[in-house]
Amino acid sequence: LNDFGIDIWSNNNFIIEEGKLKLNYKSKPSLISLVNSIRKKDYKGPLLFRFPHLIEKQIDRLYDTYTKAIKEYSYKGSFNAVFPLKVNQYPTFVKPLIKAGQKHNYGLEAGSKAELFIAMTYNKNAPITVNGFKDKEMIHLGFIAKKMGHNITLIIEGLNELETIIDVAKETKLQPPNIGVRVRLFNSGSGAWAKSGGIDSKFGLSSTEILEAYDQLEKNNLCEYLTMIHFHIGSSMNSIKPLKNALKESGHIYAELKNLGATNLSAINIGGGLAIEYSQFNRTINYSLHEFASDVIFTLKNIAKQKGVEEPNIFTESGRFISASSAVLIAPVLELFSAEYEAVHLRLKKKNPPLIEELNELYKDMKKKNALEYMHDSIDHLDSLLKLFDLGYIDLEDRSNAEILANLIIKKAISFLEVDDYEELKRIDNKIQEKYLLNFSIFQSLPDFWGIKQEFPIMPITHLDKKPTRSASIWDITCDSDGEIEFDPTKPLYLHDVNLDEEEYFIGFFQVGAYQDVLGMKHNLFSHPTEVNVLFNENDEVELEHIIESQKIIDILEDIDYDTNEIKAILNEKLDKDTYAILEKYLYDNSYLKTTWS
Ligand code: PLP
Repeated sequence: LNDFGIDIWSNNNFIIEEGKLKLNYKSKPSLISLVNSIRKKDYKGPLLFRFPHLIEKQIDRLYDTYTKAIKEYSYKGSFNAVFPLKVNQYPTFVKPLIKAGQKHNYGLEAGSKAELFIAMTYNKNAPITVNGFKDKEMIHLGFIAKKMGHNITLIIEGLNELETIIDVAKETKLQPPNIGVRVRLFNSGSGAWAKSGGIDSKFGLSSTEILEAYDQLEKNNLCEYLTMIHFHIGSSMNSIKPLKNALKESGHIYAELKNLGATNLSAINIGGGLAIEYSQFNRTINYSLHEFASDVIFTLKNIAKQKGVEEPNIFTESGRFISASSAVLIAPVLELFSAEYEAVHLRLKKKNPPLIEELNELYKDMKKKNALEYMHDSIDHLDSLLKLFDLGYIDLEDRSNAEILANLIIKKAISFLEVDDYEELKRIDNKIQEKYLLNFSIFQSLPDFWGIKQEFPIMPITHLDKKPTRSASIWDITCDSDGEIEFDPTKPLYLHDVNLDEEEYFIGFFQVGAYQDVLGMKHNLFSHPTEVNVLFNENDEVELEHIIESQKIIDILEDIDYDTNEIKAILNEKLDKDTYAILEKYLYDNSYLKTTWS
């Protein structure tokens, strides 16, 4: 059997029981039961499940681990965290997040004006930090948020932003918000998103600029508002060493500024970077959350002691760690490409080319002991027959017979081999893959796979009491050859050989709650999947909330600025009444495939 690495990536969020993947929480519903309840309501196509209890679990883990480490080291500073909205701004995610974080005073981070509006509206009394490039209007928004009573820190990315803060303070006579300084560290991060840190980073002030900023603050009597030093060395750090270096660097900058007279400077904001496990094959992160938190506290404590300054409060902005596990995408399999290669489709002639006759013999005579040898022979024969077709020596019927026979032989061989020759199967995988066509869009739902080949755990949500025997590549329904997750022999994905005429088969994609839905693209005009929040009532029963159906075609067209009345008028004019009525019904469907098993 194959557990698809859930011990590696799932953090006990899911379990396999009775051949089904189940949520390891409350009444432990199987994912297939959730899928079925949604599909009963006639929502077809891909489904995105959000699990708010998993958001809460991660927030609690973060606070509990830091609280323990603070106690362990008798650290005097406090621990604070904010969620970076860029990782997921959707209300169906953000509202449960705010609710789950309230007991810890968990705040929000905004990186643009639109995100700042979300934070100003929905944040309760928790801290708000603001990163990213800011114009005068955005800085003014920060002043207004402060006036509303928010505990807000504008983190400057350059000296010009400080100058604007000084201007806005003078012009509006409003009390300034807290000011933070993003430092451009010499040390950069590790992992796929390491570019955010380092001396050539797009963000932050150099040491010369920090000293200049401090002078400006003093000259304008604003030193009391300087409260925070900030850095972010990149998302998803798979090694902890760069963090340690960055902590030392920023810790000393903090201490130096304190000793210069920045009396209200009280916090170091370490940005994000906490990784989660995306691999289902081997562990790729070389630290634990406990180690991460202990390193932060230990390093900052030592520097504070060395430089004789108070121990700073700690802020973190981890978003991936909080959100990734909270969403799961489930897509129905529409087709297995080899399904068309069935014996009933053979058109054998009275006299066939010798290689076809041989294939037919191999198929009939195959036994367990010769299965492997016959399978290799059939692959060679198919190669030769395809060449003969190109040279004009065999016809289309022969070619079709060759393809069907070779596929039948491979399937028969796998059924023999599956018992005890799995290793051999692995060795020859490249030649005998099955292609699974799924009703979803990789561009919309796994943009990081398309953009940077980010791995995500993938597994079927049923059939888990059976051995998966087909090495699989996954195809989406976009008309784009990039819409494929190719079989990778170094990270082999095996799926089940199913007959879709008789049973349904759904594939889950995990850890998709960070960045994926907000970065998703409407390539081919496939919009977001149908989404739903899975909650539990006081009797531990599942309640499906906020079902948001995938966008209707008419709305997708309107979103890209088509005049939909014009579209309807043109089509109406060209069609009779009855046909137009059907067409209008289709226009109000979503764009994913709908019929039969979709
Ligand atoms: N804070 C800042 C300033 C960021 O740029 C980012 C992401 O790049 C984050 C926090 C979130 O980091 P992560 O994705 O590692 O949670």
